[in-house]
Amino acid sequence: MGKRLREFTRLILDQQKPVPCTNQPDVFDLDLYWKPSDHSVRQIAISTAKEMCSRCPVKNECLDVALAEKIDVMIWGGLTPAERETLLVAAQRKRARIQN
Ligand code: SF4
Repeated sequence: MGKRLREFTRLILDQQKPVPCTNQPDVFDLDLYWKPSDHSVRQIAISTAKEMCSRCPVKNECLDVALAEKIDVMIWGGLTPAERETLLVAAQRKRARIQN
C-alpha cells in the first residue's frame, strides 16, 4: 500500500462516525455485478453508492487518492472507474494544452 493510501486509511479510521462505505462495501464493488443480467442491479448499486458518498465526510480526499493512485476498481469519491478515467484524461489534455 502506498503512502497516500495509508494516510487515507488513517483518515477514515480517525473519523468520529464510520464512513458510509465501511458499512456496505458490496455496494461499492462494481466487479460483483459483471454479468449482463446484473445490469439493473449494478445501476442500483451505483446510485446507492453515489448517494452514500455524497454524505461522506472524506469524499474529496477519497477522490483525490483514487485519482492520484489511478485506482480502476470500485466507486471512490462518488465516481465510477469510468468517470474517474474521464477526469484523468481531461486533466492530461489540459496539461498538454498548457505545455504546448
Ligand atoms: S467518498 Fe470514499 S470513503 Fe466516502 S463513502 Fe464514498 S467511497 Fe467511501
